[in-house]
Amino acid sequence: MKNFQIIRALSSNSAVSSIAKESSAAFIAGGTNLVDLMKKNVVAPDKLIDINGIDLKKIEFLTGKVTIGALAKNSQVAEDEVIKEKYPLLALALAAGASQQIRHMATVGGNMLQRTRCSYFYNTDMPCNKRVPKSGCGAIGGSNRMHAIFGASDSCIAVHPSDMCIALAALDAKVFVEGPKGKREIKFTDFHRLPGNTPEKDNTLENKEIITSIEIPNNNFTKNIHYLKVRDRTSYAFALVSVAVGLDIKNNIISEARLAMGGVAHKPWRLLEAEQFLKGKTVSEATFKQAATLAMKGARSFGDNDFKLTLGPNSITEALTIAAAK
Ligand SMILES: Cc1cc2nc3c(=O)[nH]c(=O)nc-3n(C[C@H](O)[C@H](O)[C@H](O)COP(=O)(O)OP(=O)(O)OC[C@H]3O[C@@H](n4cnc5c(N)ncnc54)[C@H](O)[C@@H]3O)c2cc1C
Ligand code: SF4
Repeated sequence: MKNFQIIRALSSNSAVSSIAKESSAAFIAGGTNLVDLMKKNVVAPDKLIDINGIDLKKIEFLTGKVTIGALAKNSQVAEDEVIKEKYPLLALALAAGASQQIRHMATVGGNMLQRTRCSYFYNTDMPCNKRVPKSGCGAIGGSNRMHAIFGASDSCIAVHPSDMCIALAALDAKVFVEGPKGKREIKFTDFHRLPGNTPEKDNTLENKEIITSIEIPNNNFTKNIHYLKVRDRTSYAFALVSVAVGLDIKNNIISEARLAMGGVAHKPWRLLEAEQFLKGKTVSEATFKQAATLAMKGARSFGDNDFKLTLGPNSITEALTIAAAK
């Protein structure tokens, strides 16, 4: 691991000014992903800007929405009583991620920016277009059990590994950022991107911008919700496939539905067509199976991950069934 300097920033403004002066610097929050990447020489910044002293840890319940600071810990959000009551899908998704120790360190902003878990990305002896542009993709034709079935490209078939982000995509969250050009907001579903021929770029954050907070509008997804995560072990493992479901059911009729999948694409994969299909339908197994079939339109597998073509729709049907029965 390369030697590096570390400095502390006490405001988002000073963090942005500090990073703007550097050619090779990174923000560090909980460090649970960045330090692993540095130890493996996947990234090698000259300077780290520790942002943990910035006042961005608060969860604030305002009229019609909640705002959550980018430095709020994953465990703090998952265990907040009001989050559990008003945004239970987010609490469930967070609790399904990593382990309690990691959730105590990991922050909301860091979770959004965690890098893919594709093993070729972490192995500097292997080709990887995301790590070294134009070097090739080890996973295409290689070991790709964890990889994408939606939105992949000839350059990269990696998936975004977060659980929290799948719930945030389903809940229509927004992201607030600050950079040398000022402040702006980004729709959560536009924050992460598909790989195309620039897989080195995971998201639409511009160089030197800091995430300051996220916002979730109030919603009716407080009862009939579920986050289903299918993984190799029941703890400490990333999703093979996950499904976030929010249903608003009145008299056995679905008035509104939200559906997003994890473990299947380079970004949280929102299932808008299936959501639209579910609207106005009576709760039934046949309806949920039809929604799952619709959701899988366009899916394509790469060999080791062929099983996701079956696991995907089965998981959607199961998640909808569990959510509707609550
Ligand atoms: C063994 C293990 C198992 C895991 N399992 C899961 C899992 O099942 N599900 C899951 O979702 N996650 C899982 N994780 C990932 C974990 O959730 C992330 O590592 C964590 O959320 C990252 O947050 P952090 O604050 O530690 O980020 P850091 O490691 O500090 O930073 C990550 C990246 O974000 C940047 N950054 C951080 N904060 C900001 C900000 N506010 N603005 C701009 N840039 C910023 C950093 O520069 C860096 O590039 C696992 C991690 C480990 C080590
Ligand atoms: S799938 Fe993406 S991250 Fe994995 S080796 Fe290919 S280019 Fe790299």
